Amino acid sequence: MKLTLFGAQRYDRTFFDRVNRDAFTDQQFVIDYQEALLTEATVALAKGSDAICVFVNDQVTKPVLEALKDLGIGVVLLRCAGYNQIDLAAAQALGIKVARVPAYSPEAVAEHTLALIMTLNRHTHRAFNRVREGNFSLDGLLGQNLHGKTVGLIGTGKIGLAAARIFKGFGCRVLASDPVPSAEFKAYGEYVALDVLLAQSDIVSLHCPLLPATHHLINAEHLALMKQGAMLVNTSRGALVDTPALIAALKSRKLGALAIDVYEQEGPLFFQDRSFEIIDDEVFQRLMSFPNVLVTGHQGFFTTEAMTEIATVTLGNWQTLLQTGTCVNLVVPD
Ligand code: NAD
Repeated sequence: MKLTLFGAQRYDRTFFDRVNRDAFTDQQFVIDYQEALLTEATVALAKGSDAICVFVNDQVTKPVLEALKDLGIGVVLLRCAGYNQIDLAAAQALGIKVARVPAYSPEAVAEHTLALIMTLNRHTHRAFNRVREGNFSLDGLLGQNLHGKTVGLIGTGKIGLAAARIFKGFGCRVLASDPVPSAEFKAYGEYVALDVLLAQSDIVSLHCPLLPATHHLINAEHLALMKQGAMLVNTSRGALVDTPALIAALKSRKLGALAIDVYEQEGPLFFQDRSFEIIDDEVFQRLMSFPNVLVTGHQGFFTTEAMTEIATVTLGNWQTLLQTGTCVNLVVPD
């Protein structure tokens, strides 16, 4: 059975080949790695395959799904948790099965959230460069203790809970907002209304999915409710925040610091070396001009443990679908 894996990076090949060889000894899959992202223009690359595998920035739109159907492909394997990039209603109508990796390592993303916060707070990125140049001045490197600060988590699913455990360990007061409260969270903190969370938190961290209801959840109105000089962290999905509103809040000094691992227009930018190119995205470039903004290129998931789990669950989903016609990780429209 053949799988076309779109948006393939060198590390995808490393982990998928290893897992295919070591964990699927009875039935190894043929994996065709394609660097191109899945779009209407590239979908034909899947010709001859039985399934495709995509990541966060592939465009699994209705026309793409129709083209897949025409190619005789009935399975889309998401090698990620989020599924906002796929038209699920169209997939269901066409009889195309979609499976995802619901949790590969919540700790990977939660720990990256902490790395972003600690970098911005203690300026380790600046200290690294300074010390290498023989500059041992502490000017500009003043940070704050995390201990005793209030951290507001928007979303207490798997990643939000992993983050809550970390911040509890740091001695933070942990607040959260989630329409579906978790019994476990109550051991780490307190649920409050979103406006209370925004008003009381020194750090606000987003851990909810991108849905119509959460699109631009952090907008000018919600930024105005935040504590003066607070830090905002987004490791979930770019479109959870209204980026021009963030820029206005940074310019007015309302927002004290911003860390993002995701960006609404990340599709044409992330996961590639663009260091020799001119980046035309003015909003992104404005963000990069602030000394109190830290951007990473969607690497929250990127640990050995998570990559192994992603490859294992993705291929496992396909094996189960082939054997039984269904699997626990199927994604269907709400
Ligand atoms: P999850 O499904 O376990 O938890 C999401 C939580 O958000 C749920 O408890 C849900 O009730 C809550 N939620 C929904 N709407 C909300 C709202 N309006 N306000 C507050 N909470 C709301 O998901 P997870 O595994 O914790 O992942 C969270 C998100 O992290 C994913 O949707 C994905 O976008 C993102 N993610 C990013 C990376 C990365 O590499 N940066 C990796 C994996 C996942």
